[in-house]
Amino acid sequence: MKKIKIKKIFIEPVNVELDEPFRIAIGTKYSIENALVTVVLDNGIEGYGEAAPLESINGENQATVLATLKSCVDFIKGKEIIDFRAISKTLKSVFWAQVTARCALEMALLDAYTKVLNIPMYQFFGGAGNKAETDYTIDIVPPDVAKVNAKKLSKEGYRVLKTKVGKNIVDDIDRLLAIRDGAPGCGITLDANQGYSPAEALHFLNELEKNDIRPIMFEQPVIKSDLRGMRFVKDHTSVLIGADESVFTSADAINVVLAGCADVINIKLMKSGIIEALDIAAIARSANIKLMIGCMLESKLALGCAVHFAAGQGCFDFIDLDPHIDPAREPFTGGPVYKAPCYTLSDDLPGIGCQKR
Ligand SMILES: [Mg+2]
Repeated sequence: MKKIKIKKIFIEPVNVELDEPFRIAIGTKYSIENALVTVVLDNGIEGYGEAAPLESINGENQATVLATLKSCVDFIKGKEIIDFRAISKTLKSVFWAQVTARCALEMALLDAYTKVLNIPMYQFFGGAGNKAETDYTIDIVPPDVAKVNAKKLSKEGYRVLKTKVGKNIVDDIDRLLAIRDGAPGCGITLDANQGYSPAEALHFLNELEKNDIRPIMFEQPVIKSDLRGMRFVKDHTSVLIGADESVFTSADAINVVLAGCADVINIKLMKSGIIEALDIAAIARSANIKLMIGCMLESKLALGCAVHFAAGQGCFDFIDLDPHIDPAREPFTGGPVYKAPCYTLSDDLPGIGCQKR
């Protein structure tokens, strides 16, 4: 490949109001406060990357991400685009804890690199397929609202609904009963976002069973560091147990495998970055652990990158890449075509396929 250098890098905030506040066990978000990286190559090609920090999950916020990204500019400028792995490795050693910022840089570099190769990004990730079907998340809302939402989502074509639990067991069960009433034909996945103790998690599953509700999967029932507690839950239920917050790095994935505490690992690009996500996927596959891909609150750029990742790798049993931004407010155009509940990737758009509005 001809030597192509990174000529310029631009860093800017991305702010989008959400139509509805997004409530989970560890906090509420009213707007998306992300950051955008644009790399410009000396042949004129532009690559875009997005950081979607969620402070309660990864300790980063928009201000820290912008500061981190700005401090990387001089290091990256002048490097060759083909060296994206070496660049990523150096950034990881310096900004170990700033993973969402690093993810945005990797995304921008890979977007540019796959545009140079003139291939859609899913082909870079393995090219297993160009489609991905997502679930949709119903967050912590009153049962009547959950029922209406479930009915509406099922009508739109969603076959799996995910709901956030872990705040209050009685309310959680009422919401699940309402979701089942609203969408009796849909599968249900649960995410406690570390909200229960091991005993509470099992009590919760038992109560669901009494009400004839059998979730497809139960994500992060207990606090992320309590792998023994998660193993206790897994050993006392036949519901698939997923590790999300417990796995940020490939070393975390190995610890989860060794602890035998999960049936599923949830990969999020914003937790691991893109290069390390490939390692985590390989570890999970090798250990016969199922894969899930999830998201934070991202625009169609970073969501699109995750769709390319899941479709291209082709080994994801659970896809949780539901868009939460009103299309009219999206800061990008193009990208994966979304017709609920499926994304389709075009072979005619290189990279992620998104353009700045
Ligand atoms: Mg989760």
